[in-house]
Amino acid sequence: MANFKTHIQVSAIGSGVLSTVLLGANIVNSIEAVLLWVVGALGGVLPDIDSDNSTTLNILFRIITLMSITAVLSQLGESVSTLEIWVVIALVYGVTNWVVRPIFESYTVHRGIFHSLLSSVFIGALSIVIAYEFTYLNAVMSWLVGFFIFIGYITHLVLDEVYSVDFSNARVKRSFGTACKLYEYKNIQASLLMLLLVFGMFFMVPNAQGVKNTLISKHTLVQIKDSFLPLALKS
Ligand SMILES: [Zn+2]
Repeated sequence: MANFKTHIQVSAIGSGVLSTVLLGANIVNSIEAVLLWVVGALGGVLPDIDSDNSTTLNILFRIITLMSITAVLSQLGESVSTLEIWVVIALVYGVTNWVVRPIFESYTVHRGIFHSLLSSVFIGALSIVIAYEFTYLNAVMSWLVGFFIFIGYITHLVLDEVYSVDFSNARVKRSFGTACKLYEYKNIQASLLMLLLVFGMFFMVPNAQGVKNTLISKHTLVQIKDSFLPLALKS
């Protein structure tokens, strides 16, 4: 099994290559390219949220804790005292880390549903919806964010499988086939629920027509090809 460091290194290289191609072709600007590079790299560690005590889960719950504290503090009136603020922060911290997290951990199985191609589509679509609804990003950038997270996610699954092959002894470890599966065969209910959510999000993602015209057009491919080599090298 590949560790956190290997996963983030490989996905960072992959998303770096992809985002610089888009930057070179002037499809995104430098800030957008960096954003895509970062989300793509993060996508490469996301599947391990199903592993209790993994670095990914620790980071995820730190972000959730911080966001929850911010959300609750913003709801408090101006007359609130310092002591009350401290109590609220301690309470929110306690609930997210000692109540919500154990519940989440008890429901997730390592190399379960979050290590499947179905979940990569689910996380990709969810990212598009979150990017479009909760940030200032436009439809094309939201789709790109989802696409980069999707690619990072797939990279993780493939890498897990590659690591389950013991090359020196030319044999396959028991974990082979547990990462890059179509859906979670052992939990059909959860898989069906996820499939249903994917269909639901199909109606929530921003209009794909503009995305199709901008990203998957022939013009874009020509742009990518033309911007690859420096002017001096072109005859
Ligand atoms: Zn994994």
